Formats: sequence, C-alpha cells, structure tokens
Amino acid sequence: MCTRQSTRRRILGILAITTICSHLAVDASAQLPFGEAIDKEAKAGAKGYQWLFWSTEHIGHRLTGTVNGTKAERAADSLFRVAGIEQVSYFPFTAQAWQRRSVKLTITDRDSAWTVNSVALAHTPDSSRVKAQLVDVGNGLAADLLRVGNTLRGRTALMNLGLLQAPPGTHNLHRSEKTALAIAAGAASILFVNNVEGHVLLTGTASVDGHPIAIPVACISSEDGALLRMALARDSSATADLSMTNSNAAVTARNVIAEIKGSTKPEEVIIIGGHLDCWDLASGATDNGLGSFSIMDMARCFRALDLKPARTIRFVLFMGEEQGLLGSTAYVESMRKSGELENVKCMINLDMTGGPFGFNVVGPMGWAEVVRGIGDGIALIDTTFKNDLNQHAGLHSDHQPFMMQGVPVIAPMSDLGGHVYGCYHSSCDDIHLVDPRRMVDNVRFAGMLLFALANADSLPGHFTDEALRDRLQADGLEEKLRLQKDWRW
Ligand SMILES: [Zn+2]
Repeated sequence: MCTRQSTRRRILGILAITTICSHLAVDASAQLPFGEAIDKEAKAGAKGYQWLFWSTEHIGHRLTGTVNGTKAERAADSLFRVAGIEQVSYFPFTAQAWQRRSVKLTITDRDSAWTVNSVALAHTPDSSRVKAQLVDVGNGLAADLLRVGNTLRGRTALMNLGLLQAPPGTHNLHRSEKTALAIAAGAASILFVNNVEGHVLLTGTASVDGHPIAIPVACISSEDGALLRMALARDSSATADLSMTNSNAAVTARNVIAEIKGSTKPEEVIIIGGHLDCWDLASGATDNGLGSFSIMDMARCFRALDLKPARTIRFVLFMGEEQGLLGSTAYVESMRKSGELENVKCMINLDMTGGPFGFNVVGPMGWAEVVRGIGDGIALIDTTFKNDLNQHAGLHSDHQPFMMQGVPVIAPMSDLGGHVYGCYHSSCDDIHLVDPRRMVDNVRFAGMLLFALANADSLPGHFTDEALRDRLQADGLEEKLRLQKDWRW
C-alpha cells in the first residue's frame, strides 16, 4: 500500500511538473518570439569577442576625431555588412572635441625636483602652465574645501578621485563637479590622485557642461599621490609645475547605423545603441568595446536567424560619447527636427554592459511592466537570468539625449567586478579584462528583449514633458542637469 501510494504520488508529481514545464514553455515562447533561437545562435555563432580582439590588436583606441576613430567607424561599417545587414549607413556630425597633446608635471620641494607621470583631463585648456604651491584637499568635497579655506587661492589642489577615509555614507562627486568646486575656491590647477593601485592613470572630462575650463587639471597614480603627500609632510612649500597643450577644435565623426526594416510596423523604431568611441589611454575593450561589439554580434545573430521584426530595429554605434555625448546628441537633434523621434518607441543602451542580470527601465507608466514581463520570459529560457528590475534615471551615457526628449530608455544591468571598474577610462582598459561569455550573454538577453519589444502588440508611449521633469527631480538629477546646462524647466 505504501509502495502503491508513493508510486501514485510520484506519477502525480511528474504529471504536475510536466504540466508546469509545458505551461512555462508555452509562456516563454509566447512572450519571447524566437527567444530560444536567439539563445542558441548567440552561443553557437558568437563573433563579438573575436571582432573586439581584432580591433584592439589592429586599431587600438577609438578616440573620436583621430585616425583611429575613423578606422573604427570603417571597421564597424564592414562588420555590420559581414553580419549580413544590407542597410548600413553613416550619420556624420561635427562638434567640438577635446584631444590631448602634451603634458608635463614637475614637483619641487626644498631638497629636489622630479617629474611625475600624469595625464590631462578632458576639456582642459589648449595651452596652459601653472607653477604653484601644493595644497592637500583630501577628497575634494565641499567640506574639504571649507577646511582649507582661502589657502587654495592661486595654488594647486591635490585631491582624490575616489573617497579615502570618508565618514560612512559620504557621497562622492564626479571629477568635473570637484573641479568646479575647486575652481570656485580659487585653485590655479588641480592634480587628481587615482584610487586604483598599480600606477594606473585615468582620463575623462573635468568640465560639468562640456565647455573648456580655464585651468590645467591632470591625474596622477595613487602611488605618486602617496609620494607627493609624503613630500608635502616634509615640506609644506612643495610646488607643482603643471604644463599642458591640448586641442579643443571641431572634428567630424560618424555614428554607424545598421537597420532591419520592420515587416508590419516599419515606421515604428526600436533603437539599441552604445558608444563605439573610447578614450586613448588604452584600447577601450570594456568601455565600450563590450557594448558596441556585442551590438554588432547581435545584428549578426538576428540576420543569421533571418528574423523579421514587426517594428524597425536600428543598431546604432555612437561616436563622441566620451568627449560629451556628441554623436548621440547630434543624432537625437536631427531626428527631433525631422519628427522621426516621435516614432522611436524606446532606446536600449549598452555601455560597459557584460552578462546582464536585469534591466534598468526609465519610462512612463507601463514600461516597467512590459520589460519585466519580457524578462520573466528570458528567465524561463535561462534560469541564471535573475530579471532584476531597477527604475532609476541616470546621466552621462548615450541614453541621456533620448531620455531628455521623453523617449523611454532601458539599460541592461551587469556587474563587471572591481578589476574592470578600476580600469574605467584608464591605461589598463584592455582585452584581458573581457570575458567572452559576458558578451554572448549581452547578445542573448539584450537581444531577446530587443526582439520582443520589436514584436510586442502595443507599447506604452513617451514621457510627457511634465512627467519627465517630475521623474528627473524625483531621481535627484535637477541640480546635475542644471550644472550641465541641460535643465529646461
Ligand atoms: Zn562608456
């Protein structure tokens, strides 16, 4: 009896599991047309890592407005064609783009003088030289500046990029915000001390609004920062002689756009984009080779499966992101003028994305539910996809110009680990940091989302102007946008 009962229970159990499984399978394929096919093809035919590896070997960095930048644009155009996309085009634009020329930093204390390795931050002057006494401003936050008071006037501020010995809960500021505070306090030049060990140097903008700033600003390694602080402890009159030349001239560059025309709603567009350009200290393998080469591989995957989306899908690789969202701003402005932006249902942005576990969704009512539903379907196909959902508006990547026009934006969320984030914008952002599996997961999970959105029966709309303003305020972005001169309310 016992045996019979347990056998019966087991059979019922198996039946129940089979029912649940087939029910789930039906749901997954209903929510995610071609989800399983994308999953398989992304793994079996993956090319993104191979292409990125080739690019880092043969092109190197991809800074906008340089010979390398042009080579990267051409390579992307070719790779989209190799991927089988018939409609590939350039979107040319002209914008002011900062580029470094030379930099020299000499420290002098009462005993000696020595040269320190440094890199200029972006938007520093075309030509400048400041020799001034060093003042240690700690973390460079408002409280630190208050502490040093007037002593910073006409001097060189030595400050941390990260937070060192800050009370728990202290919020760090962006380097451009720290620069603005120090300039307001009278600093004549700034030396940022990197917080990553291993003689790593970092670049990136020192300007809150993308316009050139008036003083020279450079980054030095954490090791050299420690030496400078030791020198200051020995001799408080130690000076820094910082000279640099740069270029803040207009450059022409091109976003690269690949399109798969929609079969039944061709006028409606889903954009998936990421920046192809990168800083020039290394090959930009993670920022943003990870995102941009995954997008090219996604295009390949879709063509390999001969997918025919209802809506038009546009894969857009932006240039000029690092020098101030130049390519995406020009593209959005052009679509706004032509009225085409109305038909862009949403924009998915991949910037330093690798192995997504969920999505950050910034859109009006209804968008989070749509994306969560699609994510549930992805999680049925691969249970390692956690389908975390975040709804927090952020700035400083190519989604920003779209979001500022009310277009819903989505970013796959991932955690690349400290070894990668430590090389952000730095001399160590190279291919050794890239895990090919994370690129395949970009193609699988962001690709499934993309195709599901392109085929959804209906999608919610854009933000109204008021709803967008409220949302940006609620997410604490008003002040930052005012600083960027991008607050229009
Ligand atoms: Zn980036």
